[in-house]
Amino acid sequence: MCLICDRIEMIKKGTNPYFVKELETGYVVIGDNQHFFGYTLFLYKNHDHTELFQMDMEERNKFMQEMTVVAEATFRAFKPDKMNYELLGMGDAHLHWHLYPRREGDIEDYGNKGKGPVWWYPMEKMYSDECRPDADTLEKMKACLLEQLEDINTGV
Ligand SMILES: [Zn+2]
Repeated sequence: MCLICDRIEMIKKGTNPYFVKELETGYVVIGDNQHFFGYTLFLYKNHDHTELFQMDMEERNKFMQEMTVVAEATFRAFKPDKMNYELLGMGDAHLHWHLYPRREGDIEDYGNKGKGPVWWYPMEKMYSDECRPDADTLEKMKACLLEQLEDINTGV
């Protein structure tokens, strides 16, 4: 089993505190660490494929469309300057989108004089326990994101 499959199992059992909403192709969760406030992930429902190009066209299009809805909801909920969309997979090959709300100065002076991907910010700072939301903040973030997701889903 992989970490993402483990987290999905927790969602199914009702024990994942970060879970926000189930969509047709995946699960929306708030990131464990919130240095980039509003950091959200969209986890593909299964581990059948580890590359977008392995998915059939209809499934891939749906996955991309839903990821875009999650990104828009994240943008509306947490009001960053810009969204970053990342599908990586060298840590866990299970398809999962990292949706990062980005703001001016959020990687301090790291990277190219403060410009660049989130991954140029030191891992120990990004994943610091100080960046974990407390239970109250997490509940508020989830409610805010869910409201936007439902608004977009029903409002189109
Ligand atoms: Zn998996």
